Amino acid sequence: MQMLSTRGGAAVTPSMAILRGLAPDGGLYVPASFPTFTAAEIEAMVPMRYAERAFAVLSRFLPDFDAQELRDAIDGAYGSGFDCAQIAPVVKAGPHAHALELWHGPTLAFKDMALQLLPYLLTLSGKKHGETREVFILVATSGDTGKAALEGFLDVPGTRCCVFYPEGGVSRAQYLQMVTTGGKNTHVIAVRGNFDDAQTGVKRIFSDPQFAKEMDRQGRVLSSANSINFGRLVPQIVYYFSAYADLLGEGAIRMGDAVNFSVPTGNFGDILAADYAQKAGLPVGKLICASNENNVLTDFIRTGTYDIRTRAFHRTISPSMDILISSNLERLLFDLSGRDGARIQELMTRLSQDKVYTIAPSMLDALRARYAAGYVDEAGIRAEIARAWRDDHILMDPHTAVASAVLREYQQETGDSTPSVIVSTASPYKFGAAVLESISGSVSGDDFTCCQALSELTGTSVPDAIARLPQLPVRHNAVCDKDAMAQAVLDALR
Ligand SMILES: *Cc1c(COP(=O)(O)O)cnc(C)c1O
Repeated sequence: MQMLSTRGGAAVTPSMAILRGLAPDGGLYVPASFPTFTAAEIEAMVPMRYAERAFAVLSRFLPDFDAQELRDAIDGAYGSGFDCAQIAPVVKAGPHAHALELWHGPTLAFKDMALQLLPYLLTLSGKKHGETREVFILVATSGDTGKAALEGFLDVPGTRCCVFYPEGGVSRAQYLQMVTTGGKNTHVIAVRGNFDDAQTGVKRIFSDPQFAKEMDRQGRVLSSANSINFGRLVPQIVYYFSAYADLLGEGAIRMGDAVNFSVPTGNFGDILAADYAQKAGLPVGKLICASNENNVLTDFIRTGTYDIRTRAFHRTISPSMDILISSNLERLLFDLSGRDGARIQELMTRLSQDKVYTIAPSMLDALRARYAAGYVDEAGIRAEIARAWRDDHILMDPHTAVASAVLREYQQETGDSTPSVIVSTASPYKFGAAVLESISGSVSGDDFTCCQALSELTGTSVPDAIARLPQLPVRHNAVCDKDAMAQAVLDALR
């Protein structure tokens, strides 16, 4: 299997795509062809442990890795560090849905599913291509990716990791998780700007030949752990197969039945992994793209126009979805355009120059055949957290609540009774204050007092990874302007 660039550049192997992150032409790497899983192969996953399901999927998407390499990487990633043996359990979420819980890893959000594995894939890829330089990972985070990347790369030999986050744009727990990170190869820098500024700044560093030269001089090579890296996407495909196998196992569906997934979406990585699972043969019905007030994707899926000309950026209680430029959408556009790299190049140029583009009607039809979309505002998120606790005794974080509310609205509007899965992306304790306020109507004190109160109110326990945060020393306090990110990296390396 080869990987193509969405902007038409030369094809490479999966390991090269992972090593590079972004294609040299600025495009994203996508599979030139998809493996196909037969019904029998999917049914065979039912009795498997998560690690075995991961091997079944990864070995087909990453044919240039040998079996032993993949098994070792998977065991390293999912062997310990998760607080639940199933790794990604499916639970009942009220009368009309299940929830796929992706937050049992070390940083309590779904980013761990991929970022626990990516360092292995990246160092293996480096070895395959004779890379002797230190692989230097630059990350822009809206909150959860940063800590998950720092945790994944922490003291991994031959790697270094630098995270940029929007100053004041992440929750208190997310902030403390990042700035208390230890290790000899980690850097954390606040950017005076929002997530899009941080992401744009990182992209600019990646496309700066001077910077690459300086890194090379220092014995370093840049790579990305953002969801533009194919190595982030592949591990996410696994859990859609895993969820389907679990639903089969408990008799909630029969082999071949379609399942809808409602995915709380920001950079379009998580939902695109479901799309790729479908392309690889998983019986998926509708992919429901759920957004918060930053609802550019809702409008795009409904109208075919992606327009950020006059769109305000909203800071919400689901900060990991506070994004206006959704990077992975480019991969979907490439597919919808019939793999027309020149056309994608043109759309992306429009987006950066005019801040707006419209896709052809044929592309929009193809999009709407597989996707539905909706959004909820802040009050809607809080109401859904309260409702889920009151009616179903389920404690949801704000991101999961977005997916849940949008799914319920979709089901009411369309009458679609296809079995449905809410993708649950973070522990409620990662956003303790917002969750407590939603179910009790008031908050007092900081995030940590709120977590205690939430624990007492609901009879659930505060995860260790949160409880110990206030005791840890702050190790990172660099701040930079959004136009000075490259210099901030050089300073950090000095
Ligand atoms: C990153 C994140 C999302 C959005 O996922 P994308 O792949 O960026 O669409 C949703 N919820 C949580 C908790 C996240 O950390």
